[in-house]
Amino acid sequence: MAPTAIHNQQDVDLTAAAIQRKEAQPTKAAASNGSAVAPLDASKLTYNLTKSPRHVPSEAEANAGNETICTDHMVTAVWSASAGWSTPELKPYGPLALMPTASCLHYATECFEGLKAFRGYDGRLRIFRPDRNAARMRMSAARISLPVFEPAELVKLMTALLAVDGPRWLPRDRPGSFLYLRPTLIGTQSQLGVQSPKEAMLYIIVSFMPRMDSPPGGMRLHTSPEDMVRAWVGGFGYAKVGANYGPSLMATQDARARGFHQILWLYGPDGECTEAGASNFFVVWKRRDGKKELITAPLDDKLILDGVTRRSCLDLIREKLAGEIEVTERKYTIDELLEADSEGRLLESFAAGTAYFVCPISQIHHRGRDVSIPMGPEGQPGEVTGKVKGWLGDIMYGRTQHEWGVVIPEKE
Ligand SMILES: *Cc1c(COP(=O)(O)O)cnc(C)c1O
Repeated sequence: MAPTAIHNQQDVDLTAAAIQRKEAQPTKAAASNGSAVAPLDASKLTYNLTKSPRHVPSEAEANAGNETICTDHMVTAVWSASAGWSTPELKPYGPLALMPTASCLHYATECFEGLKAFRGYDGRLRIFRPDRNAARMRMSAARISLPVFEPAELVKLMTALLAVDGPRWLPRDRPGSFLYLRPTLIGTQSQLGVQSPKEAMLYIIVSFMPRMDSPPGGMRLHTSPEDMVRAWVGGFGYAKVGANYGPSLMATQDARARGFHQILWLYGPDGECTEAGASNFFVVWKRRDGKKELITAPLDDKLILDGVTRRSCLDLIREKLAGEIEVTERKYTIDELLEADSEGRLLESFAAGTAYFVCPISQIHHRGRDVSIPMGPEGQPGEVTGKVKGWLGDIMYGRTQHEWGVVIPEKE
């Protein structure tokens, strides 16, 4: 074989796409030394219940302080390259023990997920499309060389934790309320050498979270500083890794000081609209041909997170508003948005994600210019925003039975 052929072969194997195809393979239960290692197995979950259950605060109490209040229990599972996944444990919520040299504390070997548990108006407890969060977490883990697992096992562990803490922490007499689940995976190996960690820990906690979907007067966005990007082509903006968030806080803090809620992250010399804070960003406008269109950034260049809420909004609007509004995923720039504003074609805008749910946007500030975006009467969401928010809320809170709303089995 000619040497050039060998080189081409190696180069192809080392592209991000090739590495990702390899990561996407079914979970291998084999260590590098060839011996079998244990996969994550939720059926082995052990239960060590707290002997001193804590006071369950009201929603207002829980969100008043500066500390996130978590429920009585958490689930943990540790992993090592030589043994694979340990038996997962459900145990009292409390501090973790980590060495100061742990990989995650130095090299950002951390990824996470966020989803809500909803107490339905029918009394039942639900989570929304957990299979999608679990699959995304596996993808994020692979991106930062953390161990992978079968997504279905993570769903079972989340379900088990909610079955224990749900009835007391999200009681049936609080319909319309939610708790927040945070599955987290960290590299724990205590060695400062820069390398893929050979030890890791998965944990799942459940907390309170304030409602953020209806700031009075709508959400106000400030575009990102001219010399700063959140994510870049070839980077990891599409993965829910902690490394994406710390570096974005500076711009967010600055925007808050100026009276805005979130940053609208632009990308590239043309200022492509990507995401609003840690949620996906949508615009409803009238195209020049008169057609009504919902537009959002595409996934294919891997700049933005593939939001479960984003996907669900697009699916529902495509299904229920077919013929009324076209749904488009493509690159579009802040200049297109400013132009639509000048020509009076801007109809609505919203941010969508688990934390912010579907949140109407009323203003975008860009380089000295303020764009006002119409909302509904009396600070209500606009028509499309309101409809999609209603449909999703109905699934989450059990007013509509739908396969996306997965019921948690609770003891009576
Ligand atoms: C989590 C997140 C979202 C929203 O994703 P959901 O699955 O809808 O919660 C959007 N953008 C970023 C950057 C995020 O971290």
